[in-house]
Amino acid sequence: MKFNYCPICGNKLEIKYSWDEGGVPYCPIDDIMYFNTPKPCIMVAILKDDKILLLKQSYIFKNSKVLLSGYVTSGETIEETVHREVFEEAGIKVKNLEYLGSRYLEAKDIEMIEFMAYYDTGEIKRSSEVEGMNWEYIDNALDEMVEDEIGKSIVSKVLKKIQR
Ligand SMILES: [Zn+2]
Repeated sequence: MKFNYCPICGNKLEIKYSWDEGGVPYCPIDDIMYFNTPKPCIMVAILKDDKILLLKQSYIFKNSKVLLSGYVTSGETIEETVHREVFEEAGIKVKNLEYLGSRYLEAKDIEMIEFMAYYDTGEIKRSSEVEGMNWEYIDNALDEMVEDEIGKSIVSKVLKKIQR
């Protein structure tokens, strides 16, 4: 989040220079520095035998399938976000989370934190915000995800890890 106004008093923020951070948005009334922070978001590749869970969400990509993703909420760890989002969107439990890396998406000011995980228990029960959800053969996944560059790069990392 980029701060222009003080969330407490509503005043326009000044830029205050601190020796190690450079210019930082600052409210002189409340004496608070507001550091610009990206929105943390998780994306997870979920594996089950030789398949991977792909979602269809036309508002993200019209002709492409995507991996499951969601925003980190206050009060939870990144790992808890993964488990919560997977259960909320897909109705299943996963295990053996593995961190794959992170990247900053400038257009949306998102810090994307990438994981892979393995199916544990439960039947797929997709949330209403998801149009479709299927276990697809992981060898075909890249072809199904033409528009999803980030998802494809995560799947490529997964393919390397499981050596396919
Ligand atoms: Zn203020």
